[in-house]
Amino acid sequence: MSTNLRAIRADITTLDVDAIVNAANTSLLGGGGVDGAVHRAAGRGLLDECRTLGGCPTGGATITGGYRLKARHVIHAVGPVWHGGDRGEPELLASCYRRALELAVEHGLRSIAFPSISTGVYGYPIERAAPLAVSTVGEFVVRDATIREVIFCCFSGSDLAVYERVLGPT
Ligand code: ADP
Repeated sequence: MSTNLRAIRADITTLDVDAIVNAANTSLLGGGGVDGAVHRAAGRGLLDECRTLGGCPTGGATITGGYRLKARHVIHAVGPVWHGGDRGEPELLASCYRRALELAVEHGLRSIAFPSISTGVYGYPIERAAPLAVSTVGEFVVRDATIREVIFCCFSGSDLAVYERVLGPT
């Protein structure tokens, strides 16, 4: 059986999955956008754990507990800031998706939800980021099928339309 990849429109903090991915920054100490929402929903325990981690490089990811979230874990992935595309942005974006998936496998997780990393404040064009996210995840799960379900969690209807186009008819 192959892994199910799908896109939905939702607030990622409400999802009942083994892990939600947070679009974090290198400090791991919270920020705006989805990062702020995850920290608000998870509560103070998440920030306390993040303080012990000493940050995370761009292109990397790190895992914590989920605290007050339904999700058992949060995987904090650090995507690149978009500078026009010639500063390694595609490689760094693909890398943080892969690293998040590796952590999920290491922890035996079977369901994971990603936000559209880097496409908010970090300015990565969604039309470029979505195909890269889908292909990176797709290539990973054909080699390792531990993860049964991957959700691309879009915050806006227009982002969902982009992901649905990239994922194609199911
Ligand atoms: P980045 O700094 O990586 O660009 P942002 O949080 O600014 O991260 O945006 C990443 C994506 O997350 C954007 O598409 C934004 O609309 C979306 N987003 C913001 N809040 C939520 C949420 N609660 N659930 C899911 N996605 C969200």
